[in-house]
Amino acid sequence: MTDVVIAGYGPAGAAAAIAAHDAGRSVLILESAERGGGNARYSGGFLFDVPGDAAIAHLDTLCFGRTDRRVLEAYAAGLHELDGWLRSLGGTTAPFEPPPARLPAPFPSWPHLPAGSRIRYRTVAGGTGRRGEALWDLLDAAVRARGIEVRCQSAAEHLTFGPGGDRGVVPPGASRAPTDLSPVWWRGEFVRRPPAG
Ligand SMILES: Cc1cc2nc3c(=O)[nH]c(=O)nc-3n(C[C@H](O)[C@H](O)[C@H](O)COP(=O)(O)OP(=O)(O)OC[C@H]3O[C@@H](n4cnc5c(N)ncnc54)[C@H](O)[C@@H]3O)c2cc1C
Repeated sequence: MTDVVIAGYGPAGAAAAIAAHDAGRSVLILESAERGGGNARYSGGFLFDVPGDAAIAHLDTLCFGRTDRRVLEAYAAGLHELDGWLRSLGGTTAPFEPPPARLPAPFPSWPHLPAGSRIRYRTVAGGTGRRGEALWDLLDAAVRARGIEVRCQSAAEHLTFGPGGDRGVVPPGASRAPTDLSPVWWRGEFVRRPPAG
């Protein structure tokens, strides 16, 4: 029996699969599309970080002050650790110094937010395509190297709980799952959203 079933093979699903596998769990990934990558393959692949504790004030403003501080702290810690984690997967990153005149989007993205001027960007090095593709190729290679099973064209449609309380993990990126079946991971327990209406 599989310990962890992950719905959605984008960056969130890949990261969850790697973490679960490296914690000694057997993992199965279900992906509804023909291949994994989700939006990451089309993304700019910019990995941002705000040095030090300033990240929390920055993220809090980005989230309109509505997100639990513990979530912000965990997210900020993840930002600080991202470069080391990608290196642990065999990748390398390089600082991205934006040439302002050439890009349609402003960098840093939110200069007026707390610590906005201290935001730093990196991208995954290597490859010849989009930086987002390079990021995805790295994550995909790490999943494949671990022998984690990925089933494409296999949408997760139901979440079931076995008699022993067996349960799966559905990452937030699997946004097309029916809302009344979408669990959210919260304080160690699954919480089922009430059906719409
Ligand atoms: C044009 C663009 C540029 C971007 N640039 C950046 C950037 O520079 N930096 C940055 O940090 N972020 C950027 N982003 C955002 C980034 O791509 C997303 O935050 C990231 O891809 C989210 O990862 P995810 O795994 O949560 O979701 P997704 O990437 O959306 O992956 C979800 C996966 O789940 C699958 N799925 C959905 N429902 C089911 C189901 N029921 N069963 C099985 N599979 C299912 C989908 O097919 C998909 O493969 C950009 C996004 C876009 C669109």
